[in-house]
Amino acid sequence: MRVTVLSGGIGGARFLLGLRSLGHDVTVIGNTGDDITMLGVRICPDLDTVMYTLGDGISQERGWGREGETFRVREELTAYAEAIGAGNGADAVPSWFGLGDLDLATHLLRSEWMRGGVPLSECTRRLCERWQPGVTLLPASDSPIETHVSLVTGRTVHFQEWWVRMRAQIEATGFEIVGAEQATAAPGVIDALFDADVIVFPPSNPVVSIGVILAVPGIADAIHQTEAPVVGLSPIVGDAPVRGMADACLSAIGVPTTADAVARHYGVRAAGGLIDGWLVDTIDEAVVPGLVADGFAAEAVPLLMTDLESTTAMAKASLTLAAR
Ligand code: GDP
Ligand code: CA
Repeated sequence: MRVTVLSGGIGGARFLLGLRSLGHDVTVIGNTGDDITMLGVRICPDLDTVMYTLGDGISQERGWGREGETFRVREELTAYAEAIGAGNGADAVPSWFGLGDLDLATHLLRSEWMRGGVPLSECTRRLCERWQPGVTLLPASDSPIETHVSLVTGRTVHFQEWWVRMRAQIEATGFEIVGAEQATAAPGVIDALFDADVIVFPPSNPVVSIGVILAVPGIADAIHQTEAPVVGLSPIVGDAPVRGMADACLSAIGVPTTADAVARHYGVRAAGGLIDGWLVDTIDEAVVPGLVADGFAAEAVPLLMTDLESTTAMAKASLTLAAR
Protein backbone atom coordinates (compact mmCIF):
# COMPACT_ATOMS: atom_id res chain seq x y z
CA MET A 1 0.00 0.00 0.00
CA ARG A 2 1.15 3.55 -0.68
CA VAL A 3 0.74 5.65 2.43
CA THR A 4 1.41 9.40 2.44
CA VAL A 5 1.90 11.14 5.79
CA LEU A 6 1.98 14.89 6.57
CA SER A 7 4.50 15.19 9.37
CA GLY A 8 5.89 17.66 11.86
CA GLY A 9 8.82 16.71 14.10
CA ILE A 10 8.64 14.47 17.14
CA GLY A 11 4.97 13.41 17.06
CA GLY A 12 5.06 12.64 13.36
CA ALA A 13 8.45 10.92 13.50
CA ARG A 14 7.49 8.60 16.34
CA PHE A 15 4.29 7.64 14.54
CA LEU A 16 6.32 6.89 11.42
CA LEU A 17 8.42 4.36 13.35
CA GLY A 18 5.23 2.37 13.93
CA LEU A 19 3.91 2.84 10.40
CA ARG A 20 7.22 1.85 8.84
CA SER A 21 7.22 -1.46 10.69
CA LEU A 22 4.03 -2.43 8.78
CA GLY A 23 6.08 -2.63 5.58
CA HIS A 24 4.12 -0.24 3.35
CA ASP A 25 5.52 2.19 0.79
CA VAL A 26 5.58 5.40 2.86
CA THR A 27 6.06 8.96 1.60
CA VAL A 28 6.43 11.72 4.19
CA ILE A 29 5.59 15.35 3.44
CA GLY A 30 7.53 17.28 6.06
CA ASN A 31 6.85 20.66 7.61
CA THR A 32 9.33 23.38 6.69
CA GLY A 33 7.72 26.26 8.61
CA ASP A 34 10.09 25.68 11.55
CA ASP A 35 13.07 26.30 9.27
CA ILE A 36 15.40 29.11 10.23
CA THR A 37 18.73 30.57 9.15
CA MET A 38 21.13 31.10 12.05
CA LEU A 39 24.81 31.97 11.84
CA GLY A 40 24.55 31.48 8.11
CA VAL A 41 23.27 27.91 8.23
CA ARG A 42 19.83 26.71 7.21
CA ILE A 43 18.25 24.59 9.93
CA CYS A 44 15.26 22.34 9.15
CA PRO A 45 14.20 20.99 12.55
CA ASP A 46 11.22 18.88 11.52
CA LEU A 47 12.81 17.26 8.47
CA ASP A 48 15.88 16.44 10.54
CA THR A 49 13.83 15.02 13.41
CA VAL A 50 12.11 12.63 10.98
CA MET A 51 15.43 11.74 9.33
CA TYR A 52 17.31 11.14 12.59
CA THR A 53 14.41 9.28 14.24
CA LEU A 54 13.92 6.87 11.35
CA GLY A 55 17.69 6.63 10.85
CA ASP A 56 18.20 5.62 14.47
CA GLY A 57 20.30 8.71 15.18
CA ILE A 58 17.87 10.67 17.35
CA SER A 59 18.54 11.46 21.00
CA GLN A 60 16.25 9.08 22.84
CA GLU A 61 16.17 11.33 25.87
CA ARG A 62 15.40 14.65 24.18
CA GLY A 63 13.45 13.38 21.19
CA TRP A 64 15.18 15.93 18.94
CA GLY A 65 18.77 16.27 17.81
CA ARG A 66 21.44 13.61 17.82
CA GLU A 67 22.21 10.85 20.29
CA GLY A 68 25.62 11.47 21.88
CA GLU A 69 25.41 15.17 20.99
CA THR A 70 27.79 17.76 22.42
CA PHE A 71 27.33 21.53 22.43
CA ARG A 72 30.91 22.81 22.34
CA VAL A 73 30.37 25.19 19.43
CA ARG A 74 27.41 26.73 21.22
CA GLU A 75 29.48 27.10 24.41
CA GLU A 76 32.19 28.91 22.48
CA LEU A 77 29.67 31.22 20.86
CA THR A 78 28.13 31.96 24.24
CA ALA A 79 31.57 32.74 25.68
CA TYR A 80 32.02 35.33 22.92
CA ALA A 81 28.58 36.79 23.53
CA GLU A 82 29.21 37.14 27.27
CA ALA A 83 32.55 38.83 26.70
CA ILE A 84 31.07 41.24 24.16
CA GLY A 85 27.95 42.09 26.14
CA ALA A 86 24.55 43.13 24.83
CA GLY A 87 24.51 44.98 21.53
CA ASN A 88 27.87 45.23 19.82
CA GLY A 89 27.30 42.04 17.82
CA ALA A 90 26.51 39.65 20.68
CA ASP A 91 22.92 39.38 19.42
CA ALA A 92 24.23 37.26 16.56
CA VAL A 93 24.60 34.41 19.04
CA PRO A 94 21.40 32.37 19.49
CA SER A 95 22.42 30.93 22.89
CA TRP A 96 18.84 29.79 23.47
CA PHE A 97 18.85 27.48 20.45
CA GLY A 98 19.96 23.86 20.86
CA LEU A 99 22.57 23.90 18.15
CA GLY A 100 24.56 20.69 18.60
CA ASP A 101 28.00 19.94 17.19
CA LEU A 102 26.94 16.78 15.33
CA ASP A 103 23.74 18.43 14.13
CA LEU A 104 25.79 21.34 12.82
CA ALA A 105 27.43 19.05 10.26
CA THR A 106 24.00 18.42 8.71
CA HIS A 107 23.25 22.15 8.58
CA LEU A 108 26.66 23.06 7.14
CA LEU A 109 26.38 20.58 4.34
CA ARG A 110 22.79 21.44 3.50
CA SER A 111 23.60 25.15 3.50
CA GLU A 112 26.62 24.67 1.26
CA TRP A 113 24.49 22.75 -1.25
CA MET A 114 21.71 25.32 -1.07
CA ARG A 115 24.15 28.17 -1.70
CA GLY A 116 25.09 26.31 -4.88
CA GLY A 117 21.43 26.25 -5.94
CA VAL A 118 20.50 22.72 -4.88
CA PRO A 119 16.81 22.62 -3.86
CA LEU A 120 15.90 21.58 -0.32
CA SER A 121 14.19 18.43 -1.60
CA GLU A 122 17.44 17.28 -3.24
CA CYS A 123 19.47 18.22 -0.13
CA THR A 124 17.05 16.12 1.93
CA ARG A 125 17.39 13.19 -0.46
CA ARG A 126 21.17 13.38 -0.22
CA LEU A 127 21.18 13.56 3.58
CA CYS A 128 18.84 10.56 3.68
CA GLU A 129 21.39 8.54 1.71
CA ARG A 130 23.26 8.34 4.98
CA TRP A 131 20.32 7.84 7.34
CA GLN A 132 18.31 5.41 5.21
CA PRO A 133 14.99 6.29 6.88
CA GLY A 134 13.09 3.61 4.98
CA VAL A 135 10.55 6.18 3.76
CA THR A 136 10.64 8.82 1.02
CA LEU A 137 11.09 12.12 2.86
CA LEU A 138 9.97 15.22 0.95
CA PRO A 139 9.87 18.79 2.23
CA ALA A 140 6.42 20.29 1.66
CA SER A 141 8.09 22.95 -0.45
CA ASP A 142 11.48 23.93 -1.85
CA SER A 143 10.51 27.59 -1.46
CA PRO A 144 11.61 29.07 1.89
CA ILE A 145 8.72 29.16 4.34
CA GLU A 146 8.89 30.41 7.92
CA THR A 147 6.21 30.48 10.55
CA HIS A 148 6.16 33.79 12.42
CA VAL A 149 4.19 34.33 15.62
CA SER A 150 2.30 37.49 16.55
CA LEU A 151 2.51 38.04 20.29
CA VAL A 152 0.05 39.72 22.59
CA THR A 153 2.81 42.28 23.30
CA GLY A 154 2.60 43.48 19.69
CA ARG A 155 5.94 41.92 18.69
CA THR A 156 6.30 39.33 15.94
CA VAL A 157 8.98 36.65 16.28
CA HIS A 158 10.12 33.57 14.40
CA PHE A 159 8.35 30.41 15.56
CA GLN A 160 11.62 29.02 17.00
CA GLU A 161 12.09 32.07 19.17
CA TRP A 162 8.58 31.75 20.56
CA TRP A 163 8.70 27.96 20.98
CA VAL A 164 12.27 27.42 22.18
CA ARG A 165 13.30 30.71 23.76
CA MET A 166 9.92 31.75 25.23
CA ARG A 167 8.62 28.19 25.73
CA ALA A 168 5.37 29.56 24.25
CA GLN A 169 4.81 31.31 27.59
CA ILE A 170 3.97 34.64 25.96
CA GLU A 171 0.49 34.51 24.50
CA ALA A 172 0.31 34.23 20.72
CA THR A 173 -2.49 35.99 18.86
CA GLY A 174 -1.85 34.47 15.46
CA PHE A 175 0.57 32.93 13.00
CA GLU A 176 1.85 34.19 9.70
CA ILE A 177 3.33 31.64 7.35
CA VAL A 178 5.83 33.87 5.61
CA GLY A 179 6.53 32.79 2.05
CA ALA A 180 3.62 30.37 1.82
CA GLU A 181 1.59 32.35 -0.71
CA GLN A 182 4.40 32.37 -3.28
CA ALA A 183 5.49 28.81 -2.49
CA THR A 184 4.90 25.76 -4.63
CA ALA A 185 4.82 22.16 -3.48
CA ALA A 186 8.15 20.35 -3.79
CA PRO A 187 8.59 17.81 -6.60
CA GLY A 188 6.68 14.63 -5.83
CA VAL A 189 4.41 16.12 -3.16
CA ILE A 190 1.21 16.54 -5.17
CA ASP A 191 1.73 13.15 -6.87
CA ALA A 192 2.19 11.54 -3.45
CA LEU A 193 -1.26 12.85 -2.48
CA PHE A 194 -3.03 11.80 -5.69
CA ASP A 195 -1.27 8.43 -5.98
CA ALA A 196 -1.67 7.44 -2.32
CA ASP A 197 -3.88 4.59 -1.19
CA VAL A 198 -4.21 6.27 2.20
CA ILE A 199 -3.27 9.72 3.52
CA VAL A 200 -2.53 10.00 7.23
CA PHE A 201 -2.34 13.06 9.49
CA PRO A 202 -0.21 11.65 12.32
CA PRO A 203 -0.50 13.12 15.84
CA SER A 204 1.50 16.20 14.78
CA ASN A 205 0.77 19.77 15.82
CA PRO A 206 -2.37 20.74 13.86
CA VAL A 207 -1.42 24.41 13.67
CA VAL A 208 2.33 24.85 13.24
CA SER A 209 3.16 21.45 11.71
CA ILE A 210 0.25 20.11 9.63
CA GLY A 211 -1.36 23.56 9.31
CA VAL A 212 1.79 24.94 7.70
CA ILE A 213 2.08 22.05 5.22
CA LEU A 214 -1.56 22.67 4.26
CA ALA A 215 -0.77 26.34 3.63
CA VAL A 216 1.47 25.48 0.68
CA PRO A 217 -0.68 26.21 -2.38
CA GLY A 218 -1.96 23.03 -4.03
CA ILE A 219 -1.58 20.68 -1.06
CA ALA A 220 -4.98 21.24 0.58
CA ASP A 221 -6.65 21.17 -2.87
CA ALA A 222 -5.01 17.82 -3.65
CA ILE A 223 -6.24 16.45 -0.31
CA HIS A 224 -9.77 17.65 -1.09
CA GLN A 225 -9.67 16.02 -4.51
CA THR A 226 -7.74 12.80 -4.07
CA GLU A 227 -9.58 9.50 -4.10
CA ALA A 228 -7.52 8.23 -1.17
CA PRO A 229 -9.18 8.16 2.23
CA VAL A 230 -7.68 10.69 4.66
CA VAL A 231 -7.44 9.77 8.35
CA GLY A 232 -5.89 11.48 11.34
CA LEU A 233 -4.82 10.67 14.89
CA SER A 234 -5.38 13.14 17.69
CA PRO A 235 -2.29 14.78 19.22
CA ILE A 236 -4.60 15.90 22.03
CA VAL A 237 -5.32 13.27 24.67
CA GLY A 238 -7.52 14.07 27.67
CA ASP A 239 -7.77 17.74 26.71
CA ALA A 240 -4.01 18.32 26.68
CA PRO A 241 -1.12 17.82 24.29
CA VAL A 242 0.82 14.66 25.07
CA ARG A 243 4.05 16.61 24.76
CA GLY A 244 4.89 20.24 24.00
CA MET A 245 2.68 23.30 23.94
CA ALA A 246 0.18 22.66 21.13
CA ASP A 247 -2.53 24.10 23.41
CA ALA A 248 -0.88 27.52 23.05
CA CYS A 249 -1.06 27.18 19.25
CA LEU A 250 -4.67 26.03 19.25
CA SER A 251 -5.86 28.83 21.54
CA ALA A 252 -4.14 31.39 19.33
CA ILE A 253 -6.41 30.34 16.45
CA GLY A 254 -9.50 29.92 18.64
CA VAL A 255 -9.64 26.11 18.67
CA PRO A 256 -10.27 24.40 22.04
CA THR A 257 -7.62 21.90 23.16
CA THR A 258 -9.78 18.80 22.75
CA ALA A 259 -9.53 15.78 20.46
CA ASP A 260 -12.85 16.52 18.73
CA ALA A 261 -12.22 20.24 18.28
CA VAL A 262 -9.05 19.39 16.33
CA ALA A 263 -11.04 17.03 14.07
CA ARG A 264 -13.64 19.74 13.46
CA HIS A 265 -10.85 22.23 12.79
CA TYR A 266 -9.67 20.00 9.91
CA GLY A 267 -13.27 19.37 8.93
CA VAL A 268 -14.94 16.37 7.33
CA ARG A 269 -14.06 15.96 3.65
CA ALA A 270 -17.65 15.21 2.67
CA ALA A 271 -18.44 18.78 3.73
CA GLY A 272 -15.44 20.48 2.16
CA GLY A 273 -12.97 19.68 4.95
CA LEU A 274 -9.77 17.67 4.90
CA ILE A 275 -10.28 14.34 6.68
CA ASP A 276 -12.64 11.39 6.50
CA GLY A 277 -11.65 9.60 9.68
CA TRP A 278 -10.28 10.50 13.11
CA LEU A 279 -8.85 8.45 15.94
CA VAL A 280 -9.08 9.68 19.52
CA ASP A 281 -7.58 8.11 22.61
CA THR A 282 -9.77 5.80 24.70
CA ILE A 283 -9.83 8.46 27.43
CA ASP A 284 -11.73 10.68 24.95
CA GLU A 285 -14.20 7.98 23.93
CA ALA A 286 -17.16 10.22 24.83
CA VAL A 287 -16.53 12.52 21.85
CA VAL A 288 -16.86 9.70 19.28
CA PRO A 289 -20.69 9.77 18.84
CA GLY A 290 -20.65 13.54 18.22
CA LEU A 291 -17.97 13.15 15.56
CA VAL A 292 -19.86 10.30 13.91
CA ALA A 293 -23.01 12.46 13.88
CA ASP A 294 -20.98 15.12 12.08
CA GLY A 295 -19.98 12.64 9.38
CA PHE A 296 -16.51 11.58 10.54
CA ALA A 297 -15.54 7.92 10.73
CA ALA A 298 -14.31 8.02 14.33
CA GLU A 299 -13.02 5.54 16.86
CA ALA A 300 -11.35 5.50 20.24
CA VAL A 301 -8.14 3.47 20.57
CA PRO A 302 -5.06 3.86 22.79
CA LEU A 303 -3.03 6.74 21.32
CA LEU A 304 0.05 6.87 23.51
CA MET A 305 3.26 6.09 21.64
CA THR A 306 5.05 4.55 24.60
CA ASP A 307 6.94 1.92 22.64
CA LEU A 308 7.16 0.46 19.13
CA GLU A 309 4.38 -2.02 19.83
CA SER A 310 1.81 0.60 20.88
CA THR A 311 2.89 2.91 18.04
CA THR A 312 2.54 0.11 15.48
CA ALA A 313 -0.93 -0.65 16.82
CA MET A 314 -1.87 3.02 16.31
CA ALA A 315 -0.59 2.96 12.74
CA LYS A 316 -2.52 -0.24 12.09
CA ALA A 317 -5.70 1.26 13.57
CA SER A 318 -5.39 4.29 11.31
CA LEU A 319 -5.11 2.09 8.20
CA THR A 320 -8.05 -0.04 9.35
CA LEU A 321 -10.13 3.11 9.82
CA ALA A 322 -9.12 4.26 6.34
CA ALA A 323 -10.19 0.93 4.85
CA ARG A 324 -13.60 1.39 6.44
P1 GDP B 1 7.14 18.78 16.72
O1 GDP B 1 7.33 19.40 15.36
O2 GDP B 1 8.42 18.21 17.27
O3 GDP B 1 6.41 19.65 17.66
O4 GDP B 1 6.27 17.48 16.46
P2 GDP B 1 4.87 17.25 15.75
O5 GDP B 1 4.22 18.48 15.31
O6 GDP B 1 5.06 16.15 14.75
O7 GDP B 1 4.06 16.58 16.94
C1 GDP B 1 3.81 17.30 18.13
C2 GDP B 1 2.58 16.72 18.76
O8 GDP B 1 2.78 15.33 19.00
C3 GDP B 1 2.25 17.32 20.10
O9 GDP B 1 1.14 18.18 19.97
C4 GDP B 1 1.94 16.12 20.98
O10 GDP B 1 0.73 16.25 21.68
C5 GDP B 1 1.89 14.96 20.01
N1 GDP B 1 2.36 13.74 20.60
C6 GDP B 1 3.58 13.45 21.09
N2 GDP B 1 3.63 12.20 21.59
C7 GDP B 1 2.37 11.69 21.43
C8 GDP B 1 1.75 10.43 21.76
O11 GDP B 1 2.38 9.53 22.31
N3 GDP B 1 0.45 10.29 21.41
C9 GDP B 1 -0.28 11.26 20.80
N4 GDP B 1 -1.55 11.03 20.51
N5 GDP B 1 0.27 12.46 20.49
C10 GDP B 1 1.57 12.66 20.79
CA1 CA C 1 8.14 21.31 14.62
